[in-house]
Amino acid sequence: MIDTHMHADSRSSEDFEKMFISGIDTAITCSYYPYKIDNIPEILLNHLNRILNFEPRRAGEYGLDLRVALGIHPANALKNNEIIFEALERWIENRDIIAIGEIGLDENTDLEKEVFKKQLELAEDSKSKVIIHTPRKNKLEVLKDIKEIVLENINPKLVVIDHINLNTVEEVIDEDFTIGLTVQPQKMEVEEAIEILDKYGFDKFLLNSDISNKPSNPLSVPKTVRTLKRLGYDKKEINKVAFENAKSFFNI
Ligand SMILES: [Zn+2]
Repeated sequence: MIDTHMHADSRSSEDFEKMFISGIDTAITCSYYPYKIDNIPEILLNHLNRILNFEPRRAGEYGLDLRVALGIHPANALKNNEIIFEALERWIENRDIIAIGEIGLDENTDLEKEVFKKQLELAEDSKSKVIIHTPRKNKLEVLKDIKEIVLENINPKLVVIDHINLNTVEEVIDEDFTIGLTVQPQKMEVEEAIEILDKYGFDKFLLNSDISNKPSNPLSVPKTVRTLKRLGYDKKEINKVAFENAKSFFNI
C-alpha cells in the first residue's frame, strides 16, 4: 500500500513501524509547520530541510520507504518567500522531492492566494506534481476558488486535490485531477471513503491518513483497504486505490 499524504515530522517511530508491518510500503510526507513563523522565512526553510534530511532516514529504519513533498502550506504563507522558492527550484532540479505540497488555500486570504499561484506556476514550469490541501472550514466554498486558480495556472493532470469528501466530490470529479481521500478522525470515516469509491469508481482516487499533530490514525489506509476486501470489492479495483494509482501518478 501507499499512504499518499502524511506528516512524518510530527509522528513517532512506533507509527512508522506499525504502518510498515500493516502493509504500507511507501508513504509521502508533506510539509506543514504547526507553529508561528512570524514572517521569518529561515524558520520555514529549516523545517523543510529537516523533513528532507532526517525523516526518510528515520522512517527507513523501520522499513518504510518515505518520499518527500515540500512547499509552502497555506497556514505558513509568508511575504518574504524568495529563499523558499530558490530552495524549491533546487530540490525539483535534483529530484529530491516527489511533488510540491502540500499547498492550497486555508483561510482564503490574499497572501495565501498569491503564494499558492506562485507555487502552481513553478510546478507548471517544472512539470512537477502538486498535492493540494482543501480546508476543514468552508470546504466547498474555498474549493471553488482553488479549482478556478488551479485551472488557470497548471495542467490539472499534474494535480492531486486532497481531503475531498462526499460534500465536495461532485465539484472535482469531472476534471482531470487525481483526487485524495483522507481517512482521519474528525475528517472522514472509512465508510464515507468507501461510499465515494462505490459511487464514482476507483480510477481517480488515492488514499491517505494525513497523520499529523491533530487526531490521527496511522493505520487508516490499511483499515480502508482491508474493509474493502472484507466487503467483497474486486481485488483489481482495490489495488488501484491501495497502490497502483499512486504509483503511476507519482512515478514511484
Ligand atoms: Zn496534510
